[in-house]
Amino acid sequence: MNRHPDVTVVGSINQDMVARVPRLPGPGETVLGHELVIVPGGKGLNQAVAAARAGARTAFVGLVGEDSAGAYLLTVLDDEGIDTHGVEAVGALTGRALIAVAEDGENHIVVVPGANWLVSAAHIEHNRTRIDSASVVLTQLEIPLDAVEEALRRARAGGARTILNATPPVELAPVLVALIDVLIVNEHEAAAMASRPVTNPAQAVEAGLALRRQGCGVVVVTLGSEGAVLVSEQATIHEPAIAVEAIDTTAAGDAFAGGFAARLADGATWAEALRWAVAAGALAAMALGAAPSIPMRADVEQLLARSR
Ligand code: ADP
Repeated sequence: MNRHPDVTVVGSINQDMVARVPRLPGPGETVLGHELVIVPGGKGLNQAVAAARAGARTAFVGLVGEDSAGAYLLTVLDDEGIDTHGVEAVGALTGRALIAVAEDGENHIVVVPGANWLVSAAHIEHNRTRIDSASVVLTQLEIPLDAVEEALRRARAGGARTILNATPPVELAPVLVALIDVLIVNEHEAAAMASRPVTNPAQAVEAGLALRRQGCGVVVVTLGSEGAVLVSEQATIHEPAIAVEAIDTTAAGDAFAGGFAARLADGATWAEALRWAVAAGALAAMALGAAPSIPMRADVEQLLARSR
């Protein structure tokens, strides 16, 4: 791809093994599953697919293993039209995720990061052209923190907007937080980072204000079936969820983050990007699996038109 990317995703690539179970097992318990599907995943890959399907020219920076899963996942990214020049194969296992999805849509996930954990500041530096030239750089915490920090730093230096989807939650150094233009977190991550309960939109706004005081520019808190809130210097917005029959919320957050990044790169306002992301999340919650459940642009537009 010769053109500049709208969105460059720096993140993880996994092979997901998803089992349907009647309910999630407790500690030490075995639950019989029915149906097993093996699908592309990893928050990085999912969010890149979401950005691409939302219409953004998308590039990826990350690592896979020198194995058949890695080769397959590269073709998945290619087939989505995502620039994969920044994806290298290394001598480690391609990342894997073991996922159990219960009938009520809740899930349990075990991630074995493999090659994702070898993404380094040097790898980011080596692929800097895809970061320097992007409008928006989107990353998550499924690669090492020093790589995340380097990606955000490069993005800032190149003039891109930076988005961190801070999942899974870990303590972030103030120097890293200061590099975040938009922080996207779910209610659990917001609660952990802001050290306060977050179970409803009002508490999400309070957490957002607290996280802004920690140095994040704009804070977005996703609230599952309650939609999402956005807290910026100018305003707070609560966008209610679109009522759907949730089957599997595995990639709802990824559809949300990738869609939000794509719309921002396209010049959308905060409110427009939030509305789109909430619709993309709703559609993803209606289908099984990670990447396969991420909606196409036309489907999101149709849902938005219907729910207006
Ligand atoms: P995560 O999967 O990261 O925990 P959420 O569950 O908050 O993220 O989902 C992200 C977004 O997807 C929500 O903000 C919401 O807009 C949408 N979404 C998720 N679950 C549902 C649902 N059951 N019904 C409608 N929309 C949903």
